[in-house]
Amino acid sequence: MSELYDVTIIGGGTTGLYTAFYSGMRDLKTKVIEYQPDLGGKVSFFYPEKKIYDVGGFPGVLGDDLVADVKEQALSVQPTIVMGEKIKALEKQEDGTFVLTSHSGEKHFSKTVIVASGLGTYDLRPLDVEGSHYYGGQHIHYTIQNLMQYTGQKAVVISENRVGLDWALALENVASEVHLINRGAEFKAVYGNDLEKLEHSNVHVHMEARVEKLEGTETALERIILDNGEQIQTDHLLVYEGLQIDKSLYDQWGLVTEKGRIPVGTDMATSLEGVFVAGDAAVYPSKTMLIASGFNEAMAAVNSAKSFIDPKAKSQVYSTVIYKHVE
Ligand SMILES: Cc1cc2nc3c(=O)[nH]c(=O)nc-3n(C[C@H](O)[C@H](O)[C@H](O)COP(=O)(O)OP(=O)(O)OC[C@H]3O[C@@H](n4cnc5c(N)ncnc54)[C@H](O)[C@@H]3O)c2cc1C
Repeated sequence: MSELYDVTIIGGGTTGLYTAFYSGMRDLKTKVIEYQPDLGGKVSFFYPEKKIYDVGGFPGVLGDDLVADVKEQALSVQPTIVMGEKIKALEKQEDGTFVLTSHSGEKHFSKTVIVASGLGTYDLRPLDVEGSHYYGGQHIHYTIQNLMQYTGQKAVVISENRVGLDWALALENVASEVHLINRGAEFKAVYGNDLEKLEHSNVHVHMEARVEKLEGTETALERIILDNGEQIQTDHLLVYEGLQIDKSLYDQWGLVTEKGRIPVGTDMATSLEGVFVAGDAAVYPSKTMLIASGFNEAMAAVNSAKSFIDPKAKSQVYSTVIYKHVE
């Protein structure tokens, strides 16, 4: 960990991954540090099974597929990737290099830093009812990573949010039976014709109902019991009960912030020399919080980091000219 990197990227979302590729392509020794156990940031977290239509060159791409491609592109330049570490502190040392300290106390050393950590870290609220600790893992899911695994299976979704409603509608196409349990009297954050789609679906909706208990055999979940006494047979439970958000405190890292985000100019340089930013963490006039904006900002941030390390370096390069891709 004491090795000195040229560029350390905080965050392994789509922006952080593309930053890693671009940094490697510009011959910079690169490290990515990501808090989650998976790469992909918001795309993997919130909508891995949804199609994205507004990334240039992709007429329509599944979130998961886009992440897989950006990941492949990043890995092609062999960056060091550190998972499960949350950067808590960023300090500039006397020699001008940076030391980043994670929640576990691990230290990372770098000549420059690119902040690609969005608005912070997310943790899903776990289900906490009788039996939930026993049947976790195989039977309780907090994201839909692979829709097809539910083919022909019974599924129960617990959520009062549009996320759960979306899941139930997606599952309806593959599962043999889908129930949606909402503890409230309405769904939160719905838009468009979400409710209409639900009404016309075969999803069994249970409003103002709470799951009290999970029951089954020693090895398999078989049913859930609601607080009104109703029993629902199921093979899988999908839970979205909201997020615990730990907002990034960029000001505590010595950076000037604006409503929690980092104001920058076109070079993506922050108020701290040697620290750059890309993606949702950045803010400037007409900023759009979109995947493609993060890609564009990543290139600018890396080019700035390159010039910071080597002021004689070209400010821009063409991959078709400089990049030797290894198949
Ligand atoms: C529901 C929804 C739908 C969307 N639909 C679209 C769409 O159709 N098209 C589009 O272009 N955009 C869409 N967006 C926006 C898009 O997802 C974001 O703009 C994009 O994901 C931002 O990427 P990022 O890498 O900058 O940030 P993030 O994806 O937020 O990634 C940041 C990463 O940094 C990690 N991190 C944070 N703090 C730390 C730390 N201290 N240490 C280590 N790691 C840390 C986080 O765990 C996370 O993985 C949508 C967003 C949402 C929520």
